[in-house]
Amino acid sequence: MYSRSNVLFERAQQLIPGGVNSPVRAFKSVGGTPVFMRSAQGAHLFDVDGNRYIDYINSWGPMILGHAYEPVVKAIQEYATYSTSFGAPTELEIKIAELIVSMVPNIDMVRMVNSGTEACMSALRLARGYTGRNKFIKFEGNYHGHADAFLVSAGSGVATLEIQSVPGVTQTVAEDTLTAPYNNLPAVEQLIAAHPEQIAAIIVEPVAGNMGCIPPQPGFLEGLRQLCDANGILLVFDEVMTGFRLARGGAQELFGIRADLVTFGKIIGGGMPVGAFAGPKEIMEHIAPAGKIYQAGTLSGNPIAMIAGYTLLKTLQENPVIYQQLEEKKDYLVNGLREALGAAGIIHQINHLGSMLSVHFTEYPIIDFTAASGANNELFKRFFHAMLERGVYLPPSTFESWFISHALTRGDLDFTIAAAKAAIKAVKN
Ligand code: PLP
Repeated sequence: MYSRSNVLFERAQQLIPGGVNSPVRAFKSVGGTPVFMRSAQGAHLFDVDGNRYIDYINSWGPMILGHAYEPVVKAIQEYATYSTSFGAPTELEIKIAELIVSMVPNIDMVRMVNSGTEACMSALRLARGYTGRNKFIKFEGNYHGHADAFLVSAGSGVATLEIQSVPGVTQTVAEDTLTAPYNNLPAVEQLIAAHPEQIAAIIVEPVAGNMGCIPPQPGFLEGLRQLCDANGILLVFDEVMTGFRLARGGAQELFGIRADLVTFGKIIGGGMPVGAFAGPKEIMEHIAPAGKIYQAGTLSGNPIAMIAGYTLLKTLQENPVIYQQLEEKKDYLVNGLREALGAAGIIHQINHLGSMLSVHFTEYPIIDFTAASGANNELFKRFFHAMLERGVYLPPSTFESWFISHALTRGDLDFTIAAAKAAIKAVKN
């Protein structure tokens, strides 16, 4: 069933560390061989052995309208004939900036980069340069990319591989990263009290997606906003996952809470390597060349990436009903999974919001990293493989969110629920 994938993984391991170019793809925490893909259309992936899967990873978020979305493919084809890179300004960069500013609340300016990592790294530098302070607070199990400062108590692949402290990240750098449990305001208050006027920023995934999906508890984001206001700290929403996914204006719009800086990735590039950070003019104009806080990129604002992102974002802007439909699909799936797991007597929690969800096999609520880490990973492993065999491609880790794409049909969702029923039966025996 996976013979060609197995051969390719053998080859890949000789040439690419761990056989993959990003750790979670390697299936390390669930075991087995990663599936090598050949093509995808809509909600379906096709691997090199000819197997078909319904996709709940969606390239870890970007493919919100499904794979090979025709308007994006056509736009890329057209723009590729003009040049794949100019390294000079284009009108397209203004158009995508105008579009982003029109969709996202509380921002006047945006700088395009090439990944979510770059976006978060640059936003942190800006927050530090702007406030003249060095330390920042992040939350355990939140992931903001692989820049040194963020690889402390990080979620996603770092959590999946159970790496407690990352070799190569110096103690000096790590000392400026303060961590608190997610959804825990008193812990944040204590950190602020212990480091008066030293904290530049609080960076948070407004809905965590890198330790499974964990929505903020009522009052958590509001409390962070208040603490930032009271202490001259910038609130940075890492919307790399949630941006343009939870709502057109992301978590700021959904929760009605203002962030001082916002970071984007994934959807903003329509599947091309893109990130961005944005904020009010007063802060953003400190970025070079308007200001002295340096940030740059040879391929930043790349025309192919910009037209892909622009085309996808424009579709989302013009069709707000997409968000309602995504939520309906998610609810249908969640109800079906709950019924299937419940009927089989499997203790579980399903966290979900908008078009994000995750399943944890445990009886207690998953509100932070400690809770997520305590769930039954062994059962998840078996469930993951049983689903894969039945043609459903789930994230290969409990520390990742599942993503719903608009391309999923009722038939796909029913197929998934039926697969889950069969998978549960198989893993119980
Ligand atoms: N921030 C969040 C919330 C993410 O989920 C990710 C990636 O998964 C990143 C930042 C880093 O983005 P990238 O992988 O594009 O560098």
